[in-house]
Amino acid sequence: MDVLLAWQELLSSENVLTDEKTISAVQTATFATTQRVLAVIRPGDRAEVQECIKIANQYQTPIYPISRGKNWGLGSRVPVKDNCVVMDLSRLDRIVDYHEKLAYITVEPGVTFQQVFEYLRDIQSNLFLSVIGGPPEGSVIANTLERGDGIGPLGDRINYVCGFEVVLPTGELIHTGFGRFANAKTTPVSRWGVGPSVDGIFAQSNLGIVTQMTVWLTPIPKYYLSFNCIVKDHSRLQQLIDIIQQLILQGTIKENCFNFWNCYKFLAKEGRYPWQLLGGKTPFSLQELKGTEPWFGTGDLYCASQEQGLAERKIIEEALAGRVEQLIFSDQEDSSSPLKDDIRLGIPSNINIKSTYWRKKIKIPKNLDPDRDACGVLWLCLLFPFDGQPIVESLRTIESTIKSYQFEPNIAINCSTSRSVKMFIAIMYDRQVLEADSRAMACHDHLLQLFVQEGYIPYRLGIQSMHSLPTAQDDYDQLIRNIKNQLDPNNILAPGRYDFSRDK
Ligand SMILES: Cc1cc2nc3c(=O)[nH]c(=O)nc-3n(C[C@H](O)[C@H](O)[C@H](O)COP(=O)(O)OP(=O)(O)OC[C@H]3O[C@@H](n4cnc5c(N)ncnc54)[C@H](O)[C@@H]3O)c2cc1C
Repeated sequence: MDVLLAWQELLSSENVLTDEKTISAVQTATFATTQRVLAVIRPGDRAEVQECIKIANQYQTPIYPISRGKNWGLGSRVPVKDNCVVMDLSRLDRIVDYHEKLAYITVEPGVTFQQVFEYLRDIQSNLFLSVIGGPPEGSVIANTLERGDGIGPLGDRINYVCGFEVVLPTGELIHTGFGRFANAKTTPVSRWGVGPSVDGIFAQSNLGIVTQMTVWLTPIPKYYLSFNCIVKDHSRLQQLIDIIQQLILQGTIKENCFNFWNCYKFLAKEGRYPWQLLGGKTPFSLQELKGTEPWFGTGDLYCASQEQGLAERKIIEEALAGRVEQLIFSDQEDSSSPLKDDIRLGIPSNINIKSTYWRKKIKIPKNLDPDRDACGVLWLCLLFPFDGQPIVESLRTIESTIKSYQFEPNIAINCSTSRSVKMFIAIMYDRQVLEADSRAMACHDHLLQLFVQEGYIPYRLGIQSMHSLPTAQDDYDQLIRNIKNQLDPNNILAPGRYDFSRDK
């Protein structure tokens, strides 16, 4: 193909891959897909990204950018549409800028959470980057563009980034915020710049390839305290949700610093289904086994002093007294506390990735790779008003629906703001079990449809759900179509990705 020759000339042949092993790997997700990939191209810098996309336009060959390709449960490296070329940006892995006092770091798309952690540790920074509960080798930029979820104070990261460098679908280059001015001093510290702000159109979209971004960091707290509690049923959970909402609204607990996990998510973290105990049967019901399906709450207090921490602890203890089965606080001086390795202080861990092996019977490998190991994972990411009653009502529907498809409901709720919570619903299964792929997708689609009908629209989509949303009731879809047509007249960039306005 002429287009491949053109890219080979630009990037050299080792960065234009068409071998069967590579293609088969990028065509594999954690659920069934049918999209074929023509090739993988690997530009080495921003200028090459620009040239690659110009070639794509010239030959009318669509490009699907990935940064690290670990979008597990949402499509991994697989494009939304058939016959794309995957542009792998992992070679763009420079940390471009960093400022201790102003607490920011500027990175390229190949930079991972692990890389930023090691960088800050090595220079003995007093700052940390909120990391995700997902893969340490995920890309900071890609995760942000997906409006992914980090842990801790700045974990709702899309709100704490600025200064994007973006290659447009035609190959042109722009800088957001103040970045367009040659001598601007405030690019890494101001989100809005002056005039219309366009950062937002590059997240969850197919309107540009982000080749640089500034991400804001959090000071390592002088005093850190975490607390855990348990509630044994839905009515206690509903009460607890409402108490936590008030504690966040008044500022005792920071936004994005409290999580609820159900018992199945907790168990799956260890990655093992109780095959022996159940004599090989599925699904597993803790309700049947122990008569209860408890929920676990975990909060984190990031404080400027011990006095502050203890005062906040007192308020929380008073608010939760008699409302939870157990309330345990541990601080950084507690020798039994694993805080030194705490993911909530910016230390990446792949512990949660083990949960993708929950239903697998193989030994969990050291090098976790759910795509390779046929681990079935499907995420459904819902957003709710921070209100106990509708959340718990929805949980009842979710749990019974997932059980009716013979899976365990694996659910977490992240209190991302004082007004809304994110709910992560995972369907974890073994792709090698006959028809498990289709059963899992049917379960996912069923839930998605139910909640869209109820007015709970997902806040993040995977390639499995890009075309599942209702048409806009106003002219929004048309506006997006106009912008896309203007920026990408050949529809060359990531066709179908968060593009609700086109062919459904
Ligand atoms: C057990 C488990 C736990 C998880 N926990 C979390 C979690 O806590 N928080 C969370 O957010 N996610 C989580 N995930 C989901 C996922 O693994 C992460 O979101 C991960 O960061 C995505 O992979 P990546 O960073 O390599 O992005 P990529 O796969 O590289 O990119 C994701 C998408 O963004 C687009 N994109 C990528 N780079 C660019 C670019 N430079 N310009 C334009 N578009 C681009 C592409 O369309 C791509 O498909 C979890 C997954 C599993 C299985």
